[in-house]
Amino acid sequence: MNIAIDGPAGAGKSTIAKRIAKKLGYIYVDTGAMYRAMALYFIRLGVSADDSVSISSKCNDADITIEYRDGEQVVLLNGEDVTGMLRTEEVGNMASATSVNGDVRKKLVELQQKLAATADVVMDGRDIGTVVLPNAEVKIYLTASSKVRAKRRYDELVAKGETPDIDKIEADIIERDERDMNREISPLKQADDATLIDSSYMSIEEVVDAVTELIP
Ligand code: C5P
Repeated sequence: MNIAIDGPAGAGKSTIAKRIAKKLGYIYVDTGAMYRAMALYFIRLGVSADDSVSISSKCNDADITIEYRDGEQVVLLNGEDVTGMLRTEEVGNMASATSVNGDVRKKLVELQQKLAATADVVMDGRDIGTVVLPNAEVKIYLTASSKVRAKRRYDELVAKGETPDIDKIEADIIERDERDMNREISPLKQADDATLIDSSYMSIEEVVDAVTELIP
């Protein structure tokens, strides 16, 4: 049994996917973290986001593996636990820029398909229902308005003691969506057989209930 959740940045995919996985006893697979680990590898090497030749050749030297410790996904980059280094804006933007590369995608999609073949998973990302798991039993396209998504991110940063600029956050979100939706390979889009959930005015519990109702 596989559940695919796709959607734009900040729609709440990971929050919902984690809750559903816990409820059902499935494994949660955060595919964005894999693109982020690859991006961190390129940042450390000093490879520029537009140097597609280096990205294509160097991505094969990045060994990305996933482990589960106490039920939490841990991402290893060449054996090093990089989980805590992945959720910065710098890494997110680099992930969005380098995930357009076909060689990067091929490598990570293979890893994702292997994980889904061996366990019941709730997997979230951008191309799960369309490319990675086209036969997933349940497919969700989870979205929310860019204003709402920016406000959620803003609240998260304020809670961490930061003083972010909400307009800048929204502009970054819109730019990232544009790139993810308009890239040539595996663009972000709703699969024909996915159910659309707009979480703009829904609580987390309401979204979890809506997804649960779709599970056979
Ligand atoms: O979901 P998250 O923000 O962690 O993803 C970071 C970036 O990785 C996305 O903006 C997207 O460009 C890329 N990504 C992707 N395909 C996926 C998951 C993430 O292209 N399945």
